[in-house]
Amino acid sequence: MEININTEEKILPTEVMEEIKKPKIAIVSLTSCEGCQFALLDLGEKFLEAMSLVEMVDFRLLEDEEDAGEPIDIGFVEGNPMTAANKKTLMELRKRSKLLVVIGNCAAMGGIPEIRNYHEKQQTVKHVYKYIQGIETEEVREVDNFVKVDFTFPGCPITGEEFLKYFPILLANVKGEGELPTIPDSPVCVECKKKGNRCLLLDKKPCFGPMILGGCDAVCPTSRMGCQGCRGLRPTGNVKAMKMTLKTMMTDEEFENTTEIYGLKDDIEDWEKEHGEK
Ligand code: SF4
Ligand code: SF4
Ligand code: SF4
Repeated sequence: MEININTEEKILPTEVMEEIKKPKIAIVSLTSCEGCQFALLDLGEKFLEAMSLVEMVDFRLLEDEEDAGEPIDIGFVEGNPMTAANKKTLMELRKRSKLLVVIGNCAAMGGIPEIRNYHEKQQTVKHVYKYIQGIETEEVREVDNFVKVDFTFPGCPITGEEFLKYFPILLANVKGEGELPTIPDSPVCVECKKKGNRCLLLDKKPCFGPMILGGCDAVCPTSRMGCQGCRGLRPTGNVKAMKMTLKTMMTDEEFENTTEIYGLKDDIEDWEKEHGEK
C-alpha cells in the first residue's frame, strides 16, 4: 500500500515524520589510526545528542550493518587514500555526498603517514613488514588531491568541541540555510595567552604556534611542549618570519624533521613558492 508522507493530513506520527526528514550522514575511515573517530566517541553523550539530529548511514566504530551506498547529505572522511580500495571508497563517498568533510590531519595534510614520502619507501616498509611483497607503497597524498573538499576539521586528533560547534552549521548548510563555516584565522598563541602560559619562545624553546591555526585550546604549549603544527598553517601566518625565528633555536635538520611530523613540510614549501621565497 502506498503511503503519502507529504500530505498535510499527517498520516504518520510527528516523530516518524521528523525521522524521515533527518539529514543522512556517514563517517568513513580510509588508512588511519582512527584516533579522530575516537575523539568523537570521547564526547560521549554530547556526541549522541548531536547524532540524534541525523540518520547515521555508516560509522564502523558504532555499527556493523552493511552500508547500502545510498545518497547522503554529509560524508565525513578520516585518514589517507593510500590504497586502490581507499581511493575507490573516497570517490564513491564524494559522488553520493552533498558535502564532503575531512576529519583530521591525515586526511587534510597527509599527517604522520606522509613522513614516508620523505624517506626511501621500501626501507620504510621493511621496518614494519617482514615480507613486503604485495604491500602497496604509493606516495601519500591528501584527500583534496582526489576529490573536492567542502570543509575540514583540522588537528591530530580533531577537537571534539570544535566538531560540536561546526556540525550544526554544516547541517543547516545542507538544508540550504546559511554558508559553510570558516575557522577563524587566529594563531594557537591567542588560546595559549588566554591560558596564562609563559611563551616557550622566551625560553628559546621552539614553538610553531604563531603561524598555526588555533582552535585546539593550545594543548601542547599548555603542557610545555612546542606546537608542531598539526592544525596546519594559518591563511595569513608569516611563515618566513617564523622560520627565521625558529632557526635561531633549532638546527635546519631539527626544523625539517619537525615539519615532517604532521605533513607541514609541503605546505611550507607551497607557501614559500607562492610568496617568491623559493
Ligand atoms: S589525524 Fe591523527 S588521530 Fe586522526 S587519524 Fe590521523 S593520526 Fe589518527
Ligand atoms: S608558547 Fe607557542 S603558542 Fe604559546 S604564545 Fe608562545 S609561541 Fe605562541
Ligand atoms: S598546539 Fe599545535 S601541535 Fe598541539 S594540538 Fe594545537 S595545533 Fe596541534
